[in-house]
Amino acid sequence: MKYQRSSKLFNEASEVIPGGVNSPVRAFKAVGGTPIFVDKAKGAYLYDVDGNRLIDYINSWGPMILGHAFPPVINAVVEKAKLGTSFGMPTEIETQIAELAISMVPNIDQIRFVNSGTEACMSAVRLARGFSAKEKIIKFAGCYHGHSDSFLIQAGSGAVTFGSPNSPGVTKGTAKDTLLATYNNLDSVAKLFEANPSQIACVIVEPVAGNMGCIPPQPGFLEGLRDLCDTHQSILVFDEVMTGFRLAKGGVQELSGVNADIICFGKVIGGGLPVGAFAARHEIMSYLAPLGPVYQAGTLSGNPLAMAAGFAMLKALDSDKQLFDRLAKKTAYLHKGIVRVLSAHQIEHTINRIGSMISVHFSKIPVLDFETASLANNERFKNFFHGMLAEGIYIAPSAYETWFITDALTYKDLDYTITAVEKVAKTL
Ligand SMILES: *Cc1c(COP(=O)(O)O)cnc(C)c1O
Repeated sequence: MKYQRSSKLFNEASEVIPGGVNSPVRAFKAVGGTPIFVDKAKGAYLYDVDGNRLIDYINSWGPMILGHAFPPVINAVVEKAKLGTSFGMPTEIETQIAELAISMVPNIDQIRFVNSGTEACMSAVRLARGFSAKEKIIKFAGCYHGHSDSFLIQAGSGAVTFGSPNSPGVTKGTAKDTLLATYNNLDSVAKLFEANPSQIACVIVEPVAGNMGCIPPQPGFLEGLRDLCDTHQSILVFDEVMTGFRLAKGGVQELSGVNADIICFGKVIGGGLPVGAFAARHEIMSYLAPLGPVYQAGTLSGNPLAMAAGFAMLKALDSDKQLFDRLAKKTAYLHKGIVRVLSAHQIEHTINRIGSMISVHFSKIPVLDFETASLANNERFKNFFHGMLAEGIYIAPSAYETWFITDALTYKDLDYTITAVEKVAKTL
């Protein structure tokens, strides 16, 4: 495949946009090479500016669960745009999508729409702090909750110390209020609670982790978090920006039967437009401005185009009773095929999968948390990525990302992908 035009566009972009991209993972830093500029996409396929067709396993990092340019979403946006694109005043579509989302997700009475997953998580934490009148939060190493200061924290020295900033620009003052625990390790959470009595406003967690590859919770992990939060009168925040409306209609709350107190959404809920949201029961949501004292706002929040796209997407998910089964079956088929091929070539691997999320780690040990994810062979992943790309298959340009299966993928696409893995495996 040729990437001449992509290279040229990347050079031009790099003059005027830092690193040539508006979000760092797009720059291919983790795998090397030049980013691919997209011309258009339809169903399971991306078409780049050099005329290459790629089978897409990223799908805009999750939103395109029904495939690119899904007609009901496109039509909804086009029709809404004709009426004007933003008013800064209430519109009926906001209530319609709110009612639908609340009917699909367990355990929420009200929802507030924002413009990104970052905003949703940042606002959820502010609300948790305001509601609980406590200041510290617990997050898990390797879980991603967007780029707000409180989340850009790495473990400090020693197991029970404060976090420290992992980006310049995040202050030590902010970092000391974020405590780092180990995913799938309840003991690490219990220790933080004990060391900081009556100070933990909330525990925020990806209930299925998707930002260190895909890491499902071990049995009892989410239940244990619920118990610890109840014992210490702390709020449990499920960041379902990735998993919400993807793993089930009602997300991981529905799958696991564990209820969180605040749930964050993004990605699928916007149908490909910039949307985030956070939701909770009345008791908590009534703390939010203008009803309550916790401030939160947005000029373009609830934007009619974004709400129309999200509403069309959620309606499609809500009305298709077999969708999540179908997605899980396709993902399991791909999983089985890749295992067969990698095993035949004696390539060490750990593949984690749940529903339509899957990731391939070149590692022989179970991948359960950030540390075990980091032990995988990243050099091999780079070669795998570029090998797959050469076969016309676009997987995430980083070993720490999940692949997202879309309903638009056919079994023929999956077979083609497995054959490509076989070809690439011979070169690894
Ligand atoms: C993508 C993601 C975010 C951030 O969402 P943005 O829309 O990129 O700001 C937050 N949490 C999780 C779990 C995510 O996957």
